[in-house]
Amino acid sequence: MSFSPLDRPAQFLKGVGPRRAEFLARMGIITARDLLYHVPRRYDDASTVQPIGHLDVGMDATIVGRVRTCGTIPTRSGLRIFQAVLQDDTGMITCSWPGQPWLERSLREGDVLLVTGPVKFFHGRQLQPREFTVLARGAEGEGQTADGGTIFVSYPASEDMPQWILRKLFDQNLAALLPQAEEDEYLTPLERAELSLPSLPDALGALHRPTSLTEAEEGRRRLAYDELFFLQLAQARVRWQQTLARPGIVHRRTNALIRPLLEGLPFALTDGQARVLREIVADMTLGRRMNRLLQGDVGSGKTVIALFAMLLAAEGGRQAALMAPTELLAEQHARRIRGWIAPLGVRIVLLTGGMGAAERRRGLAGLAAGDISLAVGTHALIQEGVEFHRLGLVVVDEQHRFGVRQRMVLGERDTNPDVLVMSATPIPRSLALALYGDLDLSLLDELPPGRQAVQTELRTPAQRGDVYRFVEQELELGRQAYVVFPLVDESAKVDLLSATQERDRLAREVFPHRRLGLVHGQLSSKEKERVMRDFLAGEIDLLVATTVIEVGIDVANATVMVVEHAERFGLSQLHQLRGRVGRGAAKSHCILIAEAGDVAQERLRVFRETTDGFAVARADLAIRGQGDLFGPLQSGRDPVLHHADLLRDEALLVEAQRRARAMVDMDPRLESPAQERVRGVLDHRYAERLRMFGVG
Ligand code: ADP
Ligand code: MG
Repeated sequence: MSFSPLDRPAQFLKGVGPRRAEFLARMGIITARDLLYHVPRRYDDASTVQPIGHLDVGMDATIVGRVRTCGTIPTRSGLRIFQAVLQDDTGMITCSWPGQPWLERSLREGDVLLVTGPVKFFHGRQLQPREFTVLARGAEGEGQTADGGTIFVSYPASEDMPQWILRKLFDQNLAALLPQAEEDEYLTPLERAELSLPSLPDALGALHRPTSLTEAEEGRRRLAYDELFFLQLAQARVRWQQTLARPGIVHRRTNALIRPLLEGLPFALTDGQARVLREIVADMTLGRRMNRLLQGDVGSGKTVIALFAMLLAAEGGRQAALMAPTELLAEQHARRIRGWIAPLGVRIVLLTGGMGAAERRRGLAGLAAGDISLAVGTHALIQEGVEFHRLGLVVVDEQHRFGVRQRMVLGERDTNPDVLVMSATPIPRSLALALYGDLDLSLLDELPPGRQAVQTELRTPAQRGDVYRFVEQELELGRQAYVVFPLVDESAKVDLLSATQERDRLAREVFPHRRLGLVHGQLSSKEKERVMRDFLAGEIDLLVATTVIEVGIDVANATVMVVEHAERFGLSQLHQLRGRVGRGAAKSHCILIAEAGDVAQERLRVFRETTDGFAVARADLAIRGQGDLFGPLQSGRDPVLHHADLLRDEALLVEAQRRARAMVDMDPRLESPAQERVRGVLDHRYAERLRMFGVG
């Protein structure tokens, strides 16, 4: 891309000297482009701004007024209160900021403020600002009105670069900068019309100087689309490298194994399973490589789907490997699969670190010779120089432990095996599309019929005695239970201490006649597995845990999950914990202990009523915001998504993915002249962020 005026250092803008350039740089604004894309984070509709004269005690008000007088007043208690008297055409009101005397340094007479907060009675009417913005300073603000006539905007500001200076900078520069944004426009008018999106100059104009909230929202949608599109574009390129850039295996479907499995199963596949299976079979029998994510709640029946895929590979003469994150899970998979395929005459080997040397040698020889079709194990299965005769499919269980890069390594074999990744962590579809845009997505969003829902209960710490009595009743029936604590501290030491103390206390005071076990973050994975194995074997009645217990592990005899300080867990985490029980025929219970009256209680009540993991995930996203759930997408100084909101913008995201994939399918390296703009914008605006996310 040729040099653009938007690449000029911000210092050469009007009103910016070396000092302000330095202050701007501290906010990440280096170039003119950075300033232009520094858009307001808040909009106030002037029509909802109340005249000061009409304010009444008890109202929650937003006002705009000029500071007549201001200063700090001391009180008898020693608290210092900053006060400012604000005036508009209709009257005056005192605003007071208790305990914030430092405002003396940033507010002065003549400033025009936008203030929001409750009106209280205290020596007359007083407003206690929750938020405020300096719209203008002194004479600058003569005749101050909302920026576009009806809307007040507030920029992300800093102490050195306050609101009013930023506003002034935009007053001075916006008119010149907006037309230059044409440089970044990569959508044709036709595409914009199809997407109902404004042009970039229009969008940025609307964001900085909206005439209505609707207009500001249209501007936001445009920037949201852009960041979603470029994220998807980077992921589409990864996807292309993984799937289309190499020859895929065309698996030959004979039904020699699949049909007997289908007929021999003690149940019929659900509609969801049948649909997902069709998607997988289509991928595998076509020439392009499969790189697919199968998402389904705990217990939705993913393992049997994996087995169908593995048998499809086997009946066409290839081998298939299933990798689990732990030996325990690998054993569980192997046991189940053996049960299902016993009548089919297919050979399977379980490869774990725990097996004897001779047995291992036999297994490896069978895989190398091609006599054994199916292998189950941990990921050592494909790492430690295990030779396959004709590996055609790799299934990875519980993908959340694998990042984009690791996923890419999985398929790095000369036979280009198909890859199916399975996850039991339900996340909303939009989040899955954003995080796993490099994979194709299959959703298993229903459970097999006839499952008993786990009963979820809320209890307060005061009711702990009742909870223990209930646990004891279940243990008396020969069942098992979990008690889970949140991580107390970042430091594993404190974590260990509290869990150890708690186990000791429970063992001494509450369950002296029961066998208690303990899993915590400081145990090695070997030690953890040993404890889990004892629990699985029924040698432990009650398992105290701080780490989230092995995802996917099946202890059908465990019927109670007690979660202490439940308010500290995310809803999705709680759902994972709840999924550890209810795996056998007996009725199971999940008991959440949290302080009464806590705001968190409301959240937990929502959780109690919701059994569908995807619905829980959506609620979690709505409550916690995407930042928390998003890890790699949001962390760091420059998150990948500034403007997009995954709950609101799902449709936009679907469209962004479709278009990004179509573009890469046509022109994987984006080398055609038609894609020059796209390449330029990618380099100028998104390269850094995407590199941090691992897809750049
Ligand atoms: P996931 O791996 O998704 O957590 P599993 O594959 O372990 O779920 O399946 C949970 C249980 O449901 C298993 O016992 C499995 O045999 C059973 N199952 C799977 N599909 C069906 C079905 N369509 N109808 C009834 N039971 C099913
Ligand atoms: Mg599973």
